[in-house]
Amino acid sequence: MSKVRVRFAPSPTGGLHLGGVRTVLYNYLFAKKHNGDFIVRIEDTDQTRFVESAEQYIFDCLNWCGLEPDESVLHGGPYGPYRQSERKESYRQYAEQLVKDGYAYYAFDTKEELEKMREDLKTAENPSPQYDHTSRKKMKNSLTLTEAEVKDLLVNSTPHVIRIKMPENEVISFTDMIRGEISFETGLVDDKVLLKADGMPTYHLAVVVDDYLMKITHAFRGEEWLPSAPVHLLLWKYLGWQKDMPQWAHLPLILGPNGKLSKRDGAKYGFPVFAMNWADPKTNELTEGFKEKGFLPEAFINLLAVLGWNDGTEQELYSMPELIEKFSMDRVHVAGAKFDYEKAKWFNHEWIKKVKVSGLRFEVKNLLIKNRITVPDDSLLDKTIELVKDRCTLLPDFVQQSSFFFKTPEQLDVDAVKPKWSDEKRDFFIAYAEKLSGIGNWELGILEAAFKDLAAEKNIKPGELQLPLRIMLVGGKFGPPVFQIAELIGKNETIKRINNAMKQF
Ligand code: GLU
Repeated sequence: MSKVRVRFAPSPTGGLHLGGVRTVLYNYLFAKKHNGDFIVRIEDTDQTRFVESAEQYIFDCLNWCGLEPDESVLHGGPYGPYRQSERKESYRQYAEQLVKDGYAYYAFDTKEELEKMREDLKTAENPSPQYDHTSRKKMKNSLTLTEAEVKDLLVNSTPHVIRIKMPENEVISFTDMIRGEISFETGLVDDKVLLKADGMPTYHLAVVVDDYLMKITHAFRGEEWLPSAPVHLLLWKYLGWQKDMPQWAHLPLILGPNGKLSKRDGAKYGFPVFAMNWADPKTNELTEGFKEKGFLPEAFINLLAVLGWNDGTEQELYSMPELIEKFSMDRVHVAGAKFDYEKAKWFNHEWIKKVKVSGLRFEVKNLLIKNRITVPDDSLLDKTIELVKDRCTLLPDFVQQSSFFFKTPEQLDVDAVKPKWSDEKRDFFIAYAEKLSGIGNWELGILEAAFKDLAAEKNIKPGELQLPLRIMLVGGKFGPPVFQIAELIGKNETIKRINNAMKQF
């Protein structure tokens, strides 16, 4: 069997939707599982939708996700160029070949003529007539014009396109790796443009030519491309490459609260839809990404992997190596997969718990600095992260959960203490602060024992004193066990916070 070669073929038109990243992921997992190559090919033949910054953005996203291509515009490789616009010259010969062999034809219709045809043929049953085996007979193309007329038009550089000539009455089929055998009636499909008037190929021609020239063995793409499959099947056949056609899999849609998950759903329901922040240069609109929302790439990959796939067990958490080992295309579901943001957050929480402190240090430090919190040394930061990570769902949660380790809380939740505050409690804390100042061995167990002994001595339930101590040290009703906090912030700071807080109660 030839070496597995898969490709992700994005059009650089905007932000990378989570469905797009899942397509990359399934390609990547399949390639790695079979010791194959993962190629990224930029499909930029539609100049009207081209957005300059989108290409770099796509690579940034892949980089963040850890989905490193083996070949691409950035990585090079033996089958370049990997940007279709740079391959422009190579497509015409195939389109011309198809015309010569009778599988395609020149069409000279103007925009107005096309509009008129659609208007004339419009009926209640057929509200949007296509350019197909019926309508083509009335149009201006190399099937209706004489050879001399066509020659004349071509010699005079009359703008024209090349269209595939879809057979009137054939059934063609292929076996999808997820969906099994799928058949199409060719007569229902329109004569798609293959080569545009500007000489650029359309997606249909370019995808077939490039998958062939780049020796792609498996092509995985979104379900929305299924209707184009008959055109591609015929092109593989007509170009004489049928035996080299990749195996295809059409991945299920990702569903939002109302059908296909859209960018608008994200804005409406307050969850990210793109991998990373995307600033649209045309509209200046900023769409939030999973990265910036505070997701770990490990969690993002994990949640995408199981959005439409499972390995047949109850397991939900998978690392990349495990995914590579377990992934198989035949376990990808046919039905659309529903995206659940609460579940996505659960994955992130689990991964924050799972990853090592060193894997969080960089992000957490940056977040703290952004929030104007000085981090004096990495060892305190590491201990803090270890202590609070189980309480964080998204990375920004680390700011609230750990800022009080680095600076005295500015505002105390006084209301949580005041109603039950008493002179006895004040006496207790004055005595506790004094006791603490005499402790030489500043250790969790000792601090706690001193607290309990003193409470017993003063005849106050330690449970009633814990909350005030927490508010004194943390500022609010959250955070890890309070003596662990005291141990970490140190003697002077603990005593200072107790004394200062009492002034406010
Ligand atoms: N350029 C297409 C897209 O933007 C790729 C489809 C395919 O993978 O064949 O989705």
